[in-house]
Amino acid sequence: MTKKDNPTDRRDFLQQSILGSAGAGLVIASTSHVAAAASTDSSEPELINEVDVLVVGGGTAGTIAAIQAGRAGANTLLLERNAQLGGTMTTGGVAFPGLFDAWGQQVIAGIGWELVKECVELDGGEFPNFAKVPQRHWHNQVHINQFLYALLAEEKCEQAGVEIAYYEFPQSVEKTDTGWQVECAGFGTRRRILCKQIIDCTGGAEVVGLMGLDRLREDERQPGSFLFKMDTAHNPAENQLHRLYVHGADSTNSRTVTKANLTGRKAILAKVRNAKQRLMHLQPETGFRESYRIVGEIMITVNDYTSGRVFDDAVAYAFYPVDLHTKSGVKPKPLKPGTVPTIPLRALVPKGSQNVIVAGRCVCSDRLANSGLRVQASCMAMGQAAGAAAALAAKTGSTPLQVPLASIHGVLRENAAIIPETSAV
Ligand SMILES: Cc1cc2nc3c(=O)[nH]c(=O)nc-3n(C[C@H](O)[C@H](O)[C@H](O)COP(=O)(O)OP(=O)(O)OC[C@H]3O[C@@H](n4cnc5c(N)ncnc54)[C@H](O)[C@@H]3O)c2cc1C
Repeated sequence: MTKKDNPTDRRDFLQQSILGSAGAGLVIASTSHVAAAASTDSSEPELINEVDVLVVGGGTAGTIAAIQAGRAGANTLLLERNAQLGGTMTTGGVAFPGLFDAWGQQVIAGIGWELVKECVELDGGEFPNFAKVPQRHWHNQVHINQFLYALLAEEKCEQAGVEIAYYEFPQSVEKTDTGWQVECAGFGTRRRILCKQIIDCTGGAEVVGLMGLDRLREDERQPGSFLFKMDTAHNPAENQLHRLYVHGADSTNSRTVTKANLTGRKAILAKVRNAKQRLMHLQPETGFRESYRIVGEIMITVNDYTSGRVFDDAVAYAFYPVDLHTKSGVKPKPLKPGTVPTIPLRALVPKGSQNVIVAGRCVCSDRLANSGLRVQASCMAMGQAAGAAAALAAKTGSTPLQVPLASIHGVLRENAAIIPETSAV
């Protein structure tokens, strides 16, 4: 019997009892059942968590998914490989989420909007007037303070009982009788997570890839961008940051991300030298517009998107022009007046899978549809829907697609989401 399997060699405890527990040598915030192995056996993890829902990726969609799952009563763990929540909104510096409105009214609300609204209010910022149809779509993006957003996101997770694990990522995922066993690594930490449901919010469907499920990726992807500011001080939520395209940016692994970051920073250094201006602000990493999308139970096509198809299993609206960046820039194609696309639950579920759902820019969609769906308000709405579906599936011992749609809608409405009218409910 290994040390991990021997209860006498293991200190089992729940969250409150381990906070500040010097004897165990651990200070982690945990709402889940945690076992800290006293073992020095290098093949075994130091930590074992048993949770209902594991959210991987604490970015735009993942933060909202975790809060929703926690609020719906699921014991939820959120794994994020970087140092803060918010993903592209904070670490990437794209701090102008949109679009929450379409044609003069709000179409996306819920937990994402709650967080954005609180952030703007606490920062003394301004809201666009959603009752007015803007001349250019980006006029109605909401400018937020990226630093404050990351702090508020942590607070909301804590209030929802969500445990956060930074600097960690999954290394392997295996099926169990009741869900998944996920082996994770961080620096100085190895953790085994036993969970009923996984929500993959990594942007590039990395967990779905680890599971061996199919993903899609274009040979040529939209450029990434590095965000920075020269000359004048960066006033968060007021100044726009400058953007520098990083062509060929690839978020597949640490090597490709390193390459994108080195390329972006080198180009910014050259700009500073040429312009002879002071560098006043630089985000820590490249923002990636496009990488892998899942092969889902249904694909949202550009025709579905631009015609505003109302799917039977719609869980949210989305709204943005078709917005494909290329080597020569971007020419957004606005949607026709009155058109508001919808997102079906099936586009969040990898084909043929059980007990896993995704949210964010990896939603199953063709490339052009994805160029509109990938924006932040839509990612937040998907996150909330995935969080509700996973929490209900964990509670009922089913999978996200088996949960009655009306129950998912019910949980979403309790949390102020706006749901498209569908004939199926
Ligand atoms: C330069 C740029 C400009 C944009 N402009 C706009 C705009 O004007 N308006 C708008 O609304 N949207 C805009 N977008 C799009 C939008 O910001 C993104 O598509 C959206 O934020 C993606 O959300 P997500 O949750 O899918 O991924 P992310 O927000 O990127 O979150 C993914 C998270 O997962 C984490 N992660 C990844 N892999 C792992 C792993 N293996 N283990 C643990 N954690 C992991 C990452 O660290 C990250 O925190 C822009 C994007 C870019 C790059």
